[in-house]
Amino acid sequence: MSKSVDTDTVRKQPVDRYLKRQVLGEGTYGVVYKAIDTLTGQTVAIKKIRLGNQKEGLNFTALREIKLLKELKHPNIIELIDAFPDKGNLHLVFEYMQTDLEAVIRDRNIFLSPADIKSYMLMTLRGLAFCHKKWVLHRDMKPNNLLIGDKGQLKLADFGLARIFGSPDRRFTHQGSSDIDQLGKIFQALGTPRPSQWADMVYLPEYVEFQYVPAPPLRSLFPMASDDALDLLAKMFTYDPRARISIQQAMEHRYFSSAPPPTDPTKLRIPASKGDLLESKVSDLNQQESPTVLSPPGKLRRVMGPEAFDINRNQSIDDAEDY
Ligand code: ADP
Ligand code: MG
Repeated sequence: MSKSVDTDTVRKQPVDRYLKRQVLGEGTYGVVYKAIDTLTGQTVAIKKIRLGNQKEGLNFTALREIKLLKELKHPNIIELIDAFPDKGNLHLVFEYMQTDLEAVIRDRNIFLSPADIKSYMLMTLRGLAFCHKKWVLHRDMKPNNLLIGDKGQLKLADFGLARIFGSPDRRFTHQGSSDIDQLGKIFQALGTPRPSQWADMVYLPEYVEFQYVPAPPLRSLFPMASDDALDLLAKMFTYDPRARISIQQAMEHRYFSSAPPPTDPTKLRIPASKGDLLESKVSDLNQQESPTVLSPPGKLRRVMGPEAFDINRNQSIDDAEDY
């Protein structure tokens, strides 16, 4: 083990503190186990992360990031209870959660009322607001990463890990095409962003030009949403981060003060059990054609500094709009 290991952040300790139970699943970085913390009696989820070629141990940056996550404590953020190395793996110990929002959404026996949805929205945004206040970006917000406890409380999970351990998929060549696929899906749902809407887009490091598709009305994607809900969604789905609503503004949006009030989390229904939810993994969007890439990456390069942006902008925008 490297001498660089910070004994306070990642402690080598008797592994018998945690009594391993069943495997919960295979995650991006390795297996996740259910376990009992014999010190506290608490049920926990342990993520075993293969350190692979980082055999010398974790570098200072990774350790600092883990320490930051350990200090990020909020009712709507999953707690990182402990972190320790063992046999070339890093073990991250999290509080155990019953289920996640994806399972709730997919459960056909659960009807989500507008008040229930508002409750989930509020818990999600509260967790995210705390992250942003501490200058932590989540970078992987999706229903599957919003875990739900037995009292209905929602907690953000899986943030920061991609930054600490790298995105493992990236090492394989298909990551490029899955990123493109995902962008295609987003553009199909929300319209292909135009440089007139988001001038800095064309300077993104791996910018590729997509076929233009207009944005369908947001109402067609969310037929049951209230006008307030749609207004908030439109502001959160704004492509240009400079024009997008901030998390603080989002929490002050009238959607949260107008009727109905959010459901008390303890009154939210959660799925009876995990499993048998895999049937409809293919979303409706997959049945349709997504916009495709028009130009390969690397045609335009990011230019640093706002003055430089202006010098290069006119030409680049002309290029990009000339489909
Ligand atoms: P991925 O990296 O693909 O997002 P995860 O590592 O988050 O996968 O999770 C893998 C599996 O472990 C999933 O089935 C998830 O439900 C489960 N899991 C992860 N964290 C927890 C937790 N804190 N409590 C209970 N189950 C968890
Ligand atoms: Mg996850």
